[in-house]
Amino acid sequence: MTANNPKTVKQRKPGVMNKKQLAHLEKRLQEERNRVMKELGYYDEQFSGTLQSSDGDLSAYSFHMADQGTDAMEREKQFLFASKEGRYLWHVNEALRRLYRSPEKFGRCHECGDEIAFERLDALPHARLCIKCKAKEEDGKDK
Ligand SMILES: [Zn+2]
Repeated sequence: MTANNPKTVKQRKPGVMNKKQLAHLEKRLQEERNRVMKELGYYDEQFSGTLQSSDGDLSAYSFHMADQGTDAMEREKQFLFASKEGRYLWHVNEALRRLYRSPEKFGRCHECGDEIAFERLDALPHARLCIKCKAKEEDGKDK
């Protein structure tokens, strides 16, 4: 654990998204998370911790779940994957983890490495694929 140490995230690399866009997407993800958690009737302090930062500095945030061990994450995953909403919540949480861990990479397609259009992320903040790769993926499923 050297390169990925959360404490070293402070460095300012030019990312895909600017700070304002990242803050916006973070808010969108949190809104989605709150919405789905209400739907699931699942409300836990662990999830409701204050993630707001007064100065809007993304790197100052800490995301509890990211600090927990793999076991806790596995249990969370198994619990959430039992339902459709839960699976969605998992993806939203994963996107938040990606955002906090490496904001400079957030907004890049996991398939081809291209930038994902901000409009697409605004609509689907947990999206991992650009629209082209997503279309390809869904194409593959149909055949
Ligand atoms: Zn792509």
